[in-house]
Amino acid sequence: MINPHPGLPELDYIKPASLEEASKFLAAHAGEAKPFMGGTDCFVRLRDGAWELKYLVDVKGLDGTNTITFDSQKGLIIGAAVPMNQVISHPDIVKNYPLLSEAARTVASYQLRNRATIVGNICNASPAGDTTGACIVLGGVLNVFGPKGKRTEPLSSFFKGPGKTVLEAGDIVTSISFPLPPNGAVGRYIKLGRNMLSDLSIVGVTVLGYPDKTTKSGYRFKIALASVAPTPLVPTQAEELLAEKAISEETIMEAAQAAMDAATPIDDVRGSARYRKYMVRNLTRQALTDVWKKLTE
Ligand SMILES: Cc1cc2nc3c(=O)[nH]c(=O)nc-3n(C[C@H](O)[C@H](O)[C@H](O)COP(=O)(O)OP(=O)(O)OC[C@H]3O[C@@H](n4cnc5c(N)ncnc54)[C@H](O)[C@@H]3O)c2cc1C
Repeated sequence: MINPHPGLPELDYIKPASLEEASKFLAAHAGEAKPFMGGTDCFVRLRDGAWELKYLVDVKGLDGTNTITFDSQKGLIIGAAVPMNQVISHPDIVKNYPLLSEAARTVASYQLRNRATIVGNICNASPAGDTTGACIVLGGVLNVFGPKGKRTEPLSSFFKGPGKTVLEAGDIVTSISFPLPPNGAVGRYIKLGRNMLSDLSIVGVTVLGYPDKTTKSGYRFKIALASVAPTPLVPTQAEELLAEKAISEETIMEAAQAAMDAATPIDDVRGSARYRKYMVRNLTRQALTDVWKKLTE
C-alpha cells in the first residue's frame, strides 16, 4: 500500500544572511531549493513526498520582512514573514483594513496562524487560499527581490495555475503593499468549509464595496472567489453589473448569478463542482447583501 505520508526527507536547511545571498542560492539551485516563511505548506508537501528538494531556504527576517508599516497617506506594507496572528491583531490593520483581519482569522487554527503568513498563502497559489481574495480586492501588490533586483508584481497577473505563479527561481517576495482603502469601503469574507476549524474552503467569497461617483450605480464592488477555478477568480461581469445598475436585491441576485456563471470548479473531496457553483451564487449574494446593508446604514 502507498504511504500517503512517507515523512520528512533529509534535506539541508539554509539560512542566508542577506536577500542577495538567498536569491543567488535559490537561482543556482533551481528545482532543488525553495524559500519558506512559516513553512506550513512547505513541510506538508515535503512530508507527503509531493516535493523532492535538497534545500529549504529560510528567508524570514531578511530586510524588512518582519515588519508591518502603516502610513495614513501611502497605505500599508506587511512584511512577508509576518505571521497571520499579528495581522489579525495589528491596530492599524483592524482599523483601516478589517477585511484582511477577517479573512486571516478564518485560516486553520490559532496555532497554525502563529506560523502561517499572508505572503506564504499567496505564493502557495492554492485557489483555496483564504487571504488571497482580501489581498486582491484591496489592490495588494507584491514586492519582489530577484536576480535582476527589485520589482513589483500585481496580484491581477500573479497566478498562473494551481501552485503556479509568475515567480522564477531566485525570486523572493519581501512584502505586500496596499494602497489606502477607498473612502467608506466595507468588506466581507465568507468561507464555506466542512468544519469551523482547520479546513480549506469549499467556496470562499470576498467582497469589498464603496461609494464611487464615476459609476452609474454610484458604487463599486470588488469580488474575489476562492476554490472555484484553477486560480483565485475575479468575476468581472458581476463587478461590472454592480457598477452599471442601481443596487437593489434584484441587481445583487443578478450579480451573484454572474459570479456563479464565471466559476469553473472541480469535484474533489470537499465538495462537488455542482454544489460549489450553487454556493458561489448563494454566498456572493449573502456577502453583497451584508456589504450593501453596511454601506447604506
Ligand atoms: C493543518 C493546516 C491547515 C491549513 N488551513 C488553511 C486554511 O484554512 N486556509 C488557508 O488558506 N490555508 C490553510 N493552510 C495552508 C497554509 O497554512 C497557508 O497557505 C499559509 O498561509 C502558508 O504560509 P506559510 O508562511 O506557512 O508558507 P510556506 O509554507 O513558508 O510557503 C508556502 C509557499 O510559498 C513559497 N514562499 C514562501 N515565502 C516566500 C517568499 N517570501 N517568496 C517567494 N515564495 C515564498 C514557498 O516556497 C511555498 O511554495 C493550512 C495548512 C495546514 C498544514
